[in-house]
Amino acid sequence: MNTTTEKLSSEDIIKMEEKYGAHNYHPLPVVLAKGEGVHVWDVEGKHYYDFLSAYSAVNQGHCHPHIIGALKKQAETLTLTSRAFYNDALAPFEKYATETFGFDKILAMNSGAEAVETAIKICRKYAYERNGIPENQAKIIVCENNFHGRTTTIISFSNDDNARDNFGPYTPGFIKIPYNDTAALEEALKQDNVAGFLVEPIQGEAGVFVPDEGYLAKVRELCTKANVLFIADEVQTGIARTGNMLACDHENVKPDMVVLGKAISGGVYPVSAVLANDDIMGVIQPGQHGSTFGGNPLAAAVAIASLEVIANENLAANADKMGKLFRKEMNRMIEDTDLVNKVRGRGLLNAILINDTEESTTAWDLCMAMKENGLIAKPTHGNIIRFAPPLVINEEQLMECVAIIEKTIKEFKK
Ligand code: PLP
Repeated sequence: MNTTTEKLSSEDIIKMEEKYGAHNYHPLPVVLAKGEGVHVWDVEGKHYYDFLSAYSAVNQGHCHPHIIGALKKQAETLTLTSRAFYNDALAPFEKYATETFGFDKILAMNSGAEAVETAIKICRKYAYERNGIPENQAKIIVCENNFHGRTTTIISFSNDDNARDNFGPYTPGFIKIPYNDTAALEEALKQDNVAGFLVEPIQGEAGVFVPDEGYLAKVRELCTKANVLFIADEVQTGIARTGNMLACDHENVKPDMVVLGKAISGGVYPVSAVLANDDIMGVIQPGQHGSTFGGNPLAAAVAIASLEVIANENLAANADKMGKLFRKEMNRMIEDTDLVNKVRGRGLLNAILINDTEESTTAWDLCMAMKENGLIAKPTHGNIIRFAPPLVINEEQLMECVAIIEKTIKEFKK
């Protein structure tokens, strides 16, 4: 039996996946075989600019040599010990990451959703053990249209029917309020037994919703006043994506807990983490949380290298600069088209709003046309297209991508 994909065409591979894989995604029909920096190639050798970056995991660019070097070196030395023993890679990562982000401690996990679960557990435990909230009564405030992952608890407080339906019974203990609404937060904080507020500094999956200036600072103020933990889910916005190391840095705001994932490993290996200070992280004692792979040596080596790339290559500053240029160009472009209503974003996390209903296929069709022209992006929520290239993109490449998007939109016929 031929188990390699060597001679298979894109079409063959798509059919194979249809037949043997669960249909839990609806990918754009492009089969990628190689990546380097901002570039990817399909199995037929066609070149594309990657404008999704694996949902902001590949901030450092595909197959960054420094990260791959660290991966190879560690893979040949020691990959997994479990946390039953110490390993010589985790502690240096913990030191590097806590110093980078300015927290006392870090707890390493694997996926973004796992790190969100970790933060929820810590928040609840802290509420019971330090804040006197009665057993099993803790409530966490979350926002409408949030996206924090796919576990049973996390989808319990989602309002995306597709993500929720028929997965109940749901985990209780969450209060939902509108995003970007500090009055609603102030009101919700008046309820009994509130333990925390979990929020994305920019709602990524919802369609790149940037809150009003001052929102995060007000959130910080209200949470401090109510003695409630402010938990920032920076899985998508963190690691320089929005032009600062963390999106919360734009307002000089320090949450009580920061949740990281995706680009903390440059898209090379699943690594996620929660950062907090000693008083909060101290509620977790041996046996109360963990994962066989969480904090393994390979993950630790890859994550240090990934954070080093962000610092060494000034990727936050580049994201800021390229993002401003991109939005300027997109805003110029939309003056001449009635296909796009709006451009929004921060740093290199951006989106355009297509002038059509959420149910329409216009955004999908546009992404298909952009693919033909050599740029891959994906609609989110029907009529929004997110543009999030790797942060290593330079001005020349960015302008080439702007030209592809502009040409596609000009030539597009519904
Ligand atoms: N939190 C946010 C803000 C995200 O955007 C995502 C993924 O898109 C997650 C959590 C979940 O991460 P993962 O898919 O690695 O579980």
